[in-house]
Amino acid sequence: MKPEAERTAQALRAILEQTLTAAAKFAIFADEAKAEGHAQLAARLQTAARNEFTLAALWMRTLAEGDRPATLERLRAAADSSDGLHALYQTAVDVATREESAPLARKLTLAAAVEKNRARQFRILAKNFADDNLYRKAQERTWICGGCGHLHDGVRAPARCPLCAAPRGEFSLYCENY
Ligand SMILES: [Zn+2]
Repeated sequence: MKPEAERTAQALRAILEQTLTAAAKFAIFADEAKAEGHAQLAARLQTAARNEFTLAALWMRTLAEGDRPATLERLRAAADSSDGLHALYQTAVDVATREESAPLARKLTLAAAVEKNRARQFRILAKNFADDNLYRKAQERTWICGGCGHLHDGVRAPARCPLCAAPRGEFSLYCENY
């Protein structure tokens, strides 16, 4: 990459970070506006959040030079993001503990655990994807179609839902957690 192109990429990476932050902020502000009864403001903030997410996706693809990262790389990058947040939370726990902010330190510890678990889940999903085990298990299982709720028993999720024709990617393992 030419030096000028590298400087452009640096500028784009900074814009991408700010765009993602703005998108998340606007979405949270929209929720707060809605809770305060300002539906019109909430709708505008929500639209702005969606717009920023669209731009973030555009800059992310541009930085990848038109080469969209493959699913496996995205899952690994997601795991790395959660690992990074976990490390930040752990540092913050140490600081809060030293400053004797025990209730905050406790919350930061809980949030660190959430990120650690998220990173673990992303790595399991990445491994399942790499091993072609996302829609195939060693034993017969029940799969549920995310499109229509159709239940399918088998080692593999069906290529297409026999009820709503959704593709295999809509299927996940069916579990009752109630
Ligand atoms: Zn279906």
